[in-house]
Amino acid sequence: MSNPLHPGATIGILGGGQLGRMLLVAAARLGFKTHIYDPSPNPPAGHVAARVFTAPYDDLNAIRAFAESVEIVTFEFENIPADALNAIEEICPVLPGGTALVVSQDRVLEKDFIKGLGLKTAPYAQVDDLESLQRGLDQVGTPAILKTRRFGYDGKGQARIDDPSQAAKALDAIDRRPALLEGFVEFEREISVIGARSIDGTVICYDPGENVHETGILRTTTVPATITNAQATDAVILTGQILNALNYVGVMGVELFVTRQGLLVNEIAPRVHNSGHWTQNGCVIDQFEQHIRAIAGWPLGDGQRHSNVVMTNLLGDEASCPQMLARDATAALHLYGKTESRPGRKMGHINRITGPAGG
Ligand code: AMP
Repeated sequence: MSNPLHPGATIGILGGGQLGRMLLVAAARLGFKTHIYDPSPNPPAGHVAARVFTAPYDDLNAIRAFAESVEIVTFEFENIPADALNAIEEICPVLPGGTALVVSQDRVLEKDFIKGLGLKTAPYAQVDDLESLQRGLDQVGTPAILKTRRFGYDGKGQARIDDPSQAAKALDAIDRRPALLEGFVEFEREISVIGARSIDGTVICYDPGENVHETGILRTTTVPATITNAQATDAVILTGQILNALNYVGVMGVELFVTRQGLLVNEIAPRVHNSGHWTQNGCVIDQFEQHIRAIAGWPLGDGQRHSNVVMTNLLGDEASCPQMLARDATAALHLYGKTESRPGRKMGHINRITGPAGG
């Protein structure tokens, strides 16, 4: 890659969902072309991409052809198979790099990494079988949550354990896959920080957003979060620490629990994040443009929040009548172009401006 990347160059995005779509709209604004790679036909990002590769992630010939067609590759999700990543890296750079992917693909490695930085997490234990689960329950206590080490998202691949007698049932519920046992955190609230790091190591974080989940799926993000200035500063500093430790380039989402014992890191996502969608209407430079700027070797925007925003995800049939939603003049409507709605499926979101920042 010639650094910085010049307008007219082509960026490849692995994954053509809504995050890929919003990334490529931002890339287009900066004059880049984009190619999408996605196993399913007609992905949301495909409507706006210059070229779409439709093939499974283990089709390394297709993966190589995709990599040959672009100058740099980025991704919208973290579960990219290692073989695909390696095949691309032989041809062109992949940003954010492989280390962040390896760490975030595996909940045990992720927790060990966070702990290794001196940051706090929920109490946890590695689970490989019933015996290690029982040992883990002794250590972590109940209630606890059993989460598959890999391929979990939006609360999928998780089982709650209220009493040690439920251990075998919980293990069955996650198909006896390798797992992480986590103590249940009595958090006051959930927040997340969207941070960006450029190729020259500059770090910029957006204001923390406060997240409300329903059945494991993000429902709303509100900025400003109802936290103290000290908590906001801590959240931003620890995000910078994580970005620097990974020598990260791009945008990352860091999910945190606010507790009486301080901030606990729940999860890191090496990509643009649903809880950062508010930046589209709350900041001059949103998370999507920030990511494209970072991977293209451009200077970052400052990400300063100019407005207070409530972001609400539109799930299932909530987006079926967009004209009604559009009647609210203070609400910016973002629809993902998905034709089929299923319960809980993210179809779009609304950013409602609630006032000027600091007002
Ligand atoms: P995750 O997939 O790990 O991000 O979990 C999805 C959501 O489940 C989180 O945002 C929390 O609302 C809830 N959750 C996950 N882990 C815990 C925990 N250890 N204690 C309490 N709630 C949790």
